[in-house]
Amino acid sequence: MEPSSTEAGTPGPGLDGAHVPGLAEALPWLRLARHILVFTGAGISTESGIPDFRGPNGVWKTTDPQRYTIQSYVSDQSVRVERWRARLEGRFSDAQPNAAHLAVTRLQRAGLAPVVVTQNIDGLHQKAGTVNVIELHGTSSEAMCLDCARRMPMEVALDRVREGDEDPHCELCGGLLKTATISFGQPLVAADMDRGIDEARRCDVCLTVGSTLSVWPAAAVPVEAARHGARLVIVNEGVTDLDGMANLILSGRAGMVMTELVAAILAGGTQGRIQGPRW
Ligand SMILES: [Zn+2]
Repeated sequence: MEPSSTEAGTPGPGLDGAHVPGLAEALPWLRLARHILVFTGAGISTESGIPDFRGPNGVWKTTDPQRYTIQSYVSDQSVRVERWRARLEGRFSDAQPNAAHLAVTRLQRAGLAPVVVTQNIDGLHQKAGTVNVIELHGTSSEAMCLDCARRMPMEVALDRVREGDEDPHCELCGGLLKTATISFGQPLVAADMDRGIDEARRCDVCLTVGSTLSVWPAAAVPVEAARHGARLVIVNEGVTDLDGMANLILSGRAGMVMTELVAAILAGGTQGRIQGPRW
């Protein structure tokens, strides 16, 4: 258990937001927030060793996105074989949450961020102890049948690949199995998107972390929040498509910025919403 500066009883670095340009001026209204909707993208996981898509070393710099469409998965067996083999090698299955994921968990445990909406499929929010995570683009921890929608733990599907079935099919209906993630060309799960939009209408601050906010319909969540009067806070290393709508833009690595941001918000301790410092 990682004690926060507040719990340790001494003011730690970042409690006044001085290390992150722009943060100190925003603290008065950030500390009044009662319902923060956290919305995350690939940039929150790069410090865990998982490459993002559109960054300088992003996946799309070296990989053809055309091979990642649902159409190519369904029509081309070599794509499926390649994908299952890559999954079996499990390059990223040992990835661990980083400081940014842990900061989100602290915010949630303080009662300020009941729900997290993520575009990520890596499960790192849950590994960091965050609950109520809406995974708009699915999860790599399960496989599903594209015909009957039956789901199973990823390991069950991978066991079949290990046993020599290079292109496993559903045992019930014969349909194609696929990681339970949303590929290009594949619709999002409507219920997940609906929940995300509901949460957007409920929050008073929408905090986006590590997303270029350029992938739709996921980006509709922060847009909806802003339209309903929430303040928009963007944490990202580069520009995003929604910078023009933002009330606060914090540039930098997600781990550092989120650690400082959350420490500074919680150090406010206003309205009795969190336990105050003990000194
Ligand atoms: Zn099936």
